[in-house]
Amino acid sequence: MSDSAASSANNDSLQHFIFENSDIRGEVISLAEAYQQVRANNSRAEGGLPEPVLRLLGEFMAAVSLLSGTLKFEGVLTLQAKGSGPMPMIMAEASYQKGLRAAVQVDAASQIGDAPSFTELLGQGGLLAILIQPDKGERYQGIVPLEKPELAACLEDYFAQSEQLATRIWLAADQAHAGGLMLQALPQQLADAEHNECHWQHLVALADTIKNDELLGLDAHTILHRLFHEEQLRLFDPQPVAFACSCSEQRCASAIMAMGQAEAEQIVAEQDLITMDCHFCGQQYQFGPEQLAKLFGDQAASRH
Ligand SMILES: [Zn+2]
Repeated sequence: MSDSAASSANNDSLQHFIFENSDIRGEVISLAEAYQQVRANNSRAEGGLPEPVLRLLGEFMAAVSLLSGTLKFEGVLTLQAKGSGPMPMIMAEASYQKGLRAAVQVDAASQIGDAPSFTELLGQGGLLAILIQPDKGERYQGIVPLEKPELAACLEDYFAQSEQLATRIWLAADQAHAGGLMLQALPQQLADAEHNECHWQHLVALADTIKNDELLGLDAHTILHRLFHEEQLRLFDPQPVAFACSCSEQRCASAIMAMGQAEAEQIVAEQDLITMDCHFCGQQYQFGPEQLAKLFGDQAASRH
């Protein structure tokens, strides 16, 4: 581990680590390409999106990646915030395979200043939800009110209230990169409560010295070396992370089937096609009379 690699570009990856001899784990996430893809996908709308909103998308991607590090089964983890402000919804998803996607809604009529806080953008009554959807098994959802101005602090509230695991999160995003660091206390196993608590305070104090430009410009090894070089740290293999969208023709077809034949035919009668745009990746899916006939069987075909 040398500092000569410090300025090299990060590959998109999630780095897990644990501290030997105490019950504390952590992760570092570095995102560049996946973040650029999401910035581009979300800027297609006329006029694009304000820079503070794009950076918040980066923070959401970094955060959901950190949270997905705890996924123990095939499925999808979604982090979503909703409110009544100029940005009524923002969300990011991570799959078990570390595929990431993210989307945001911005009220085109509202003015967004140069440096609005997360909770200013979401407005009054904002809520933060974490949804876990296993491929097999029951969904889980936890919700907390947004009571802190920053996403990282709101997530810490979430963990304090829902999981009762002491958790600290640092997030940052600029135009090129998004990154994050998480420390989490695990249930007591290796060390006694006093040792864990004392070590936790020490590690948080060290991690608190991280600067945004370090989180964004340095690779995970360098970040961990700078913060914790006097600690006994075990690093796991980094996991590659990439933009991935789970939309498909099949999913759109299912949505049309759910809409019902009468309504679907009505739309095609009026507009020739049912057009569905994926708001995550921009892929467009179109269904005309022939496709509807196939979806709904011979009944639909015989009526035209
Ligand atoms: Zn898509």
